[in-house]
Amino acid sequence: MSVKFGVLAIQGDVRENVDSLKLALEEAGIDGTVHEVWSPEDISTLDGLVIPGGESTTIGQLSLANDSLKEIKEKIQAGMPVLGICAGMILLSNNASDRIVSMKQPLLEVLDVTVKRNAFGRQGKSFEADISLDGMGVSKFNGIFIRAPSITHTGPDVEILSKFDDMPVAVKNGNIIGTSFHPELAGDLALHKYFVSLAKN
Ligand code: GLN
Repeated sequence: MSVKFGVLAIQGDVRENVDSLKLALEEAGIDGTVHEVWSPEDISTLDGLVIPGGESTTIGQLSLANDSLKEIKEKIQAGMPVLGICAGMILLSNNASDRIVSMKQPLLEVLDVTVKRNAFGRQGKSFEADISLDGMGVSKFNGIFIRAPSITHTGPDVEILSKFDDMPVAVKNGNIIGTSFHPELAGDLALHKYFVSLAKN
């Protein structure tokens, strides 16, 4: 059976995630296809979804406006694996605040974490660091943090996959994975491979 993956293509790092998923499927020997999706109809047919990094307020507001947000939430609650990267993880979270401005933004509220947006500073403060994805058995991974959120609280069912500076930077709660960094820019498919294997099971 072929599995069908989507990358939410409203705004952000879409192309890089489509490419990473295709390569990950190939390397993992999984029969599957990858699509750019934005409508509730397209999302309803998926077996797995990546919500890419970008601007969480924009992705949230536009997907709320076209009813995709509701469809994504229903699919995740029904067990569809989802990978939320940076802005995507913010969208998945139960609570998000910004380091500087106070604003309300639409959230999926399916991942029991609290995040602080732009916690490491704005664009100038983007950085790369070697991290390990201990929860996935990967000892070295190129962590690329771009206006990244920090995870300030994790609920009891949330598994911490990786820490940097003693803070969680990758988490998993059942079928839901969130990362503060950008695995699609790492030049390493480990995280995408782990994710596609979730949808196959
Ligand atoms: N700072 C962005 C936000 O709050 C996230 C940045 C990113 O996805 N690289 O939405």
